[in-house]
Amino acid sequence: MITLKEALTLSPEALATLRETLQTEIESRPELNAYVALDASGSGVPIAVKDNIQVKDWSVTGGSKILQGYVAPYNATVIEKMHSAGLSPFGRTNMDEFAMGSTTESSYYGRTQNPHHPDCVPGGSSGGSAAAVAAGLAVAALGSDTGGSIRQPAAFCGIVGMKPTYGRVSRYGLGAYASSLDQIGPMTKNVEDAAILYDIISGYDPNDSTSVNRNDKVSQTLNPSRPLTIAIVPSYIKEASTDVKKAYAKAVAVLRNAGHTIVEREFMDAKYDISAYYITATAEATTNLARYDGIRYGNRVEGANLKETFIKTRSEGFGDEVKRRILLGNFVLSSGYYDAYYVKAQKVRHLIKEEYMKIFNEVDLILSPVAPRTAYEFGALSDPLEMYLSDIYTISVNLAGLPAIALPIDTSESGMPVGLQLIAAPFDEQTLFDGALSLEQSLQS
Ligand code: GLN
Repeated sequence: MITLKEALTLSPEALATLRETLQTEIESRPELNAYVALDASGSGVPIAVKDNIQVKDWSVTGGSKILQGYVAPYNATVIEKMHSAGLSPFGRTNMDEFAMGSTTESSYYGRTQNPHHPDCVPGGSSGGSAAAVAAGLAVAALGSDTGGSIRQPAAFCGIVGMKPTYGRVSRYGLGAYASSLDQIGPMTKNVEDAAILYDIISGYDPNDSTSVNRNDKVSQTLNPSRPLTIAIVPSYIKEASTDVKKAYAKAVAVLRNAGHTIVEREFMDAKYDISAYYITATAEATTNLARYDGIRYGNRVEGANLKETFIKTRSEGFGDEVKRRILLGNFVLSSGYYDAYYVKAQKVRHLIKEEYMKIFNEVDLILSPVAPRTAYEFGALSDPLEMYLSDIYTISVNLAGLPAIALPIDTSESGMPVGLQLIAAPFDEQTLFDGALSLEQSLQS
């Protein structure tokens, strides 16, 4: 597949041919189930869009039954920005229902396959976007990351996935999961494409009150030869599989060789990250999902009265994982437990951010695994708690609002991609991309 950088130089005729070729290829790989719908009518560079980002006049469903039939009345800001840069949304990609999950198995549209192995998940929740890029069915894609949903599927499918600093990319038109954690980001074949797409979608937006008024760009000033100080966290990788540990050692050696300084740092026990994240995320999700009541959006199941309509619509429209989170979220927000859970989680969140900021006073980047292991087989993560624990390496980044990028490092013994992530200080995307480009180039040389 052509890179985004190359695609941006194509003539309108060449772009039309590219869209046709893509469409044929996508139709020849139905077993992947990367896309839930295609629309090749745009005239720009085709970009795959996760099914929770609004494209005007397209259906948008967040992978849920409850939003079947809902048509987006306006473009998300990222889509407007793509149009202005000569990019066109090309199709909607599969995802875990309302972005809750790590495998794309909870989608109303059925599961997506990992292009590297038919029995393995692509990761989640942006599994469709990751599979599309990895299989050559998209030039690039947009995903959303609340607790790892861009980085983890990128790692599982062997592509690059980047989560911007909270506030960098407008959330206007993104179906909200947990509003204080969600960010839209690029999923691409390589680091430079990720920087280009990040530049296109980022920037101030008055329609998002959490959007930050900074418009600095990175792709024209990429500098992989800047020597950086990169922290590794030895205690952190104890939980990881042999494949991931091997990739970590490889990346450290490669980075040292490239002239970067590697230092060791420690973090508080990551089990607190999991608790703080799942309390915060479910609390916000409960509130955000309250709007799907069968009256204003999508699917309605009529009852004898209004209350029964609400109950029937929500009971039949939401899947099990979403219901579990609504129950959890209501529990942690209920009056008797609010201080014990929700308030405490916010305090832990604050500590996590402080801990990161202390480390970033001394280093430029942190190198971390993305997931404890490579892509799971379908069904392997059927215990929800086990699935939550598998987010151990990604969620603290969202709790602290930091930018991070996952990139492919190695291949496991069974032939599956192993990705790692670099994490940077807030708004230091330039250093993040410089370090990632240096790592990518050094791995190739
Ligand atoms: N797996 C995490 C969750 O289910 C992260 C999902 C995401 O980033 N959207 O909450």
